[in-house]
Amino acid sequence: MSAKLIDGKKVAELIRSQVRDDVNEWVGSGNRRPFLQVVQIGTDPGSTTYIRAKTRACEDVGINTGTNRLPDTVSAKELKRIIRDYNQNDEMDGILVQLPLPNHLSSHDVIESIDYRKDIDGFHPMNVGRLAVDQPSYRSCTPAGIFELFRHYSIQVKSKHAVVVGASNIVGSPMAIMLSRENSTGKATTTICHKFTRDLTQHTISADILVVAAGQPGLIKGEMVKEGAVVIDVGINRVADETSKKGYKLVGDCEFESVMEKASWITPVPGGVGPMTVAMLMKNTLLAAKKSIYPDG
Ligand code: NAD
Repeated sequence: MSAKLIDGKKVAELIRSQVRDDVNEWVGSGNRRPFLQVVQIGTDPGSTTYIRAKTRACEDVGINTGTNRLPDTVSAKELKRIIRDYNQNDEMDGILVQLPLPNHLSSHDVIESIDYRKDIDGFHPMNVGRLAVDQPSYRSCTPAGIFELFRHYSIQVKSKHAVVVGASNIVGSPMAIMLSRENSTGKATTTICHKFTRDLTQHTISADILVVAAGQPGLIKGEMVKEGAVVIDVGINRVADETSKKGYKLVGDCEFESVMEKASWITPVPGGVGPMTVAMLMKNTLLAAKKSIYPDG
């Protein structure tokens, strides 16, 4: 078998075009243009690239945005004061603090200091908790984007065995929650694996749907994948590549060629899950502007 490619770039463009139309309609009916406030701490080049992609996407769909660039020495107290101001600013619909943070800042504390009604990343415990009990919430953009891919390609999740490799708060855990809920979203039988999992292959080999978000290039090889599985490769890893001008290339967590031979569907890296994450951020920001999730917010 040779897997078919899941074209995240194409599906993300469809979603962005829908958001663009919805923003036009929203503004056309006399409402303020949605606004996303981004905070960057330090000068990490990866964060700069991600923020550029997000702010360009905002411009593309008609969402206004501003980026506050703070030094990596900013104190927790000062950062929280700034976020408090943003929480109270009625002109700001969404607040995004780009992760990772410098070591002296706790991402838990910083995320919790954001008003959950403006937490368009869906990382606040209120949003994660509500997700876990089937209540409306901002959904973490990467898992939400993967579900849009399932929908677009009519990939059935219900009653399948889904295996998630990676259990982070921002990708693996919310993905597993969404896959496993029986009253909404996935309705799949779900296994979560992480770095303490013994014999990873024993789990991955039985997956009908395999979502890999470990940040480990080449972790999943063809022999670890069931024939016909749907493989969603979330990983974005920089590996040295002398043939590229930048000196590196981006690869996922799967050994692409060998996994391609076993899977029925696979997301490429780049061009798979990444563009969906950005598109879902646009969608969440529009939801925030419309107060669709938290009408009293
Ligand atoms: P993380 O480092 O916070 O978490 C990694 C998880 O993988 C942990 O739960 C860890 O236990 C698990 N893990 C690590 N090594 C493992 C192994 N050998 N076997 C099994 N499990 C293992 O990372 P994260 O923030 O969740 O991101 C994961 C990857 O996804 C990274 O490459 C990141 O760049 C990428 N990412 C992509 C997008 C996107 O839009 N495509 C969004 C977020 C993150």
